[in-house]
Amino acid sequence: MEQVDWTYFRRGLTDWYRPDRRPMPWKGDRSPYRIWLSEIILQQTRVAQGLPYFERFVAAYPTVGDLAAAPDAEVMKLWEGLGYYSRARNLLKAARVVANEHHGRFPDTYDGLLALPGVGPYTAAAIASFAFDRPVAVLDGNVFRILARYAGDATPIDTGPGRKHFQQLVDAALGTAPAAAFNQAIMDFGALVCTPRAADCPRCPLADHCRARAEGWVYELPVKGKKAERRDRYFHYLVVTDAAGRFLIHRREDRDIWRQLYQFPLLEAGTLDLRPAALMQRDDWPDWLPAEELEFTGRSAPYAHQLTHQRIGTVFHTAHWPEMRDVPPAYLRIDRWELERYALPRVITRYLETDRLTLDL
Ligand code: SF4
Repeated sequence: MEQVDWTYFRRGLTDWYRPDRRPMPWKGDRSPYRIWLSEIILQQTRVAQGLPYFERFVAAYPTVGDLAAAPDAEVMKLWEGLGYYSRARNLLKAARVVANEHHGRFPDTYDGLLALPGVGPYTAAAIASFAFDRPVAVLDGNVFRILARYAGDATPIDTGPGRKHFQQLVDAALGTAPAAAFNQAIMDFGALVCTPRAADCPRCPLADHCRARAEGWVYELPVKGKKAERRDRYFHYLVVTDAAGRFLIHRREDRDIWRQLYQFPLLEAGTLDLRPAALMQRDDWPDWLPAEELEFTGRSAPYAHQLTHQRIGTVFHTAHWPEMRDVPPAYLRIDRWELERYALPRVITRYLETDRLTLDL
């Protein structure tokens, strides 16, 4: 399988980025205090809910020293309603560590930041890159999702080795790009384009090299827990033509590979070794396709197509249906030259290109 093109990824992402796509009060801020505060408040909290808290905290405690000096009860009261109170307790602890042990200045390295109470790898990377231009990439749920999809990578994200693996991917993706801009771009991209349940693939600047999109498993990624198993599938395409040589095609709509690509009528079976007579006996044989009016003329040699998580064996059965009546509206009847206008799975274009000799029936 080809190498993942991280240069394309990096360029696509940074060209796409515009600060005003997702305005935030702390965007472009270089103050480690405000970056840290916003990151802690936004953990497990939606932006809309966290924003007023951020503003209240900044107004009440303009510096980390002010926060460190505040009484615990006052800080807890200001936090009220945000939940996860351990965050507020760690917030205070960390503010006091910075005030007392670092003379009121945040550590300026990833490791130094990581040592503060309540600061995990993601927050440390965000502060290190945004405030101090350190070359570290952020890795959070958004980033796991984008990387897993772009690379078509089914490594589980919730294991130690999985996390390490994705850290390597994001480091490769970052390359030598300025980390602050890259991190901001990838966070916005995860919030606006490659979202968990409604990815905007048709308008995505990375779509041409995105494996999950090509293989139609955007919503299966990222994988948690057990590694996705590789599946073997067997496709039988019915290449049906009418008296004028026109083909029948339709668009794949299911949540499956090749979604929204066009294909011939398809039967999926447990084996490639099926002749037309056996196919016609199957329950999934299309009831609008009258077996008695079809004249089968050939069967292709098998085509193998390897996807990240599936192996697809395909055979094409050619048949004439001179009259072609009562075809469901979802099916188009098109000339061969028109096929080029439609997005087809690679295995179908290979078949059309090679016109591999039809074998036996
Ligand atoms: S093509 Fe779709 S799945 Fe792939 S990166 Fe873009 S939005 Fe995400």
